[in-house]
Amino acid sequence: METIYDVIILGSGPAGLTAAIYTQRFGLKTIVVAGRAWGGQLMLTTDVENYPGFAKIQGPELMKRMRDQVEGLGVEILDVDFSKIDTTKQPYMVTTGDKTIESKAVIMATGADTRWLGVPGEEKLRGHGVSSCAPCDAFFFRGKPVAVVGGGDSAMEEAQVIAKVSPDVVLIHRRDKFRASQAMIDKVSSMKNVRFLYNTQVVEMLGEDKLTGLLLERDSKRWVLPRDGVFVAIGLNPNTKNFTGLELDTHGYVKRYESRAETGVLEYFTKTNVPGIFTAGDVHDARYKQAVTAAAFGCMAALDVQRYLAMKGYL
Ligand code: NAP
Repeated sequence: METIYDVIILGSGPAGLTAAIYTQRFGLKTIVVAGRAWGGQLMLTTDVENYPGFAKIQGPELMKRMRDQVEGLGVEILDVDFSKIDTTKQPYMVTTGDKTIESKAVIMATGADTRWLGVPGEEKLRGHGVSSCAPCDAFFFRGKPVAVVGGGDSAMEEAQVIAKVSPDVVLIHRRDKFRASQAMIDKVSSMKNVRFLYNTQVVEMLGEDKLTGLLLERDSKRWVLPRDGVFVAIGLNPNTKNFTGLELDTHGYVKRYESRAETGVLEYFTKTNVPGIFTAGDVHDARYKQAVTAAAFGCMAALDVQRYLAMKGYL
C-alpha cells in the first residue's frame, strides 16, 4: 500500500521550507518535492543583509540552513522536478519521474524566476554589479552610478529604492511609454537624480570581474554608458508549468483566494481555486517578493493546511 501523505510541498525556497517546518511540527506527514535546482532565487544571490537574525549571510548558506533545519525534523525531501499534478481528485497525485506521490493537501511554493534580458555579460556579472533586487543590493551601490532596466511598476520601484543611495540613476526602457502606473512614474520623475532613456535597448553588459558599463542602442546608434550597477526589472516568470486545473491571474501568477467564515473572521488566506491546494511565496505574490515574506506565506499556508485537514476530519 502506497503512503498517502498529509501534505506535499512543491518547491524548496523560503516559502516551501518554512511550510515544511510547520507542517512537520504539526505532526503532518510531509514530503517536499524540492526540484533538481533546489533552494529558489536565494541560491543565485550573494550577500543577504535583510533576513532577520542574520546581519549578513550568503544566500546559498541561508538556504542550506533552512534545509538542514527541515531535514533535522525528519521531513522527506526529493531533489527532483515534478512533471504533473492531478488536481481533479483527492488524494492529489504528483508525478516525479517514474514515481507517483499521493497526498490529501498540497502547497504550491514553486516560486518565480527573474526574467533576465539574456544579453552577453549579464549572466557572468550577476552578483558583481548585475542585480534584480534593489531592496537587497542597493546598499552596495552607495554613491555610485547605476541603471535600472524596465518600464513597469517593478522598474519604478527599483529606481526609487536605488535613488536613495545613488546620485546618478538612469532608467532604461525599450519603448517611449511606460507600462507603470502614473503615480509611480510621477514619483520617480520628481527625483532629481533619476533620468529616463526611452526607446533604448541594452545590448551588452560590460566588465570582466565586475560591471563597468552598458552597451546601449537607440535608432541603430550604439554607445557605452559607464555604470557600476544595473538592476534588471523586466518582470518575473512564476513557475507554474505542469500546474493543470489551477487558476492563474493575467500575469501568470497562481490566484489566491481569501475565505471568511460567516462571522466575517478570516478562515484561509492561501487557498487556491482547488480545495486542499494552497499556495505560498513568489508563485502567487507579484507584490512583496522578499525571502522573509515568502517564508511568512509558507507559514500561513501550513496553518491553512492544518486547519483544512482538521475541518475535513482527516486529523
Ligand atoms: P510588467 O508590468 O510586466 O513590466 C515589465 C516591463 O519590462 C515592461 O515595461 C516591459 O516592456 C519590460 N520588458 C519586458 N521584457 C523586456 C525585455 N526583454 N527587454 C526590455 N524590456 C523588457 O512587470 P513588473 O513591473 O514586474 O510588474 C508585474 C506586476 O506586479 C504588475 O501588475 C505590477 O503592477 C505589479 N507590481 C506592483 C508594484 C506596486 O504596486 N508597488 C510593484 C511592482 C510590481 P514593455 O512595456 O515594452 O512591454
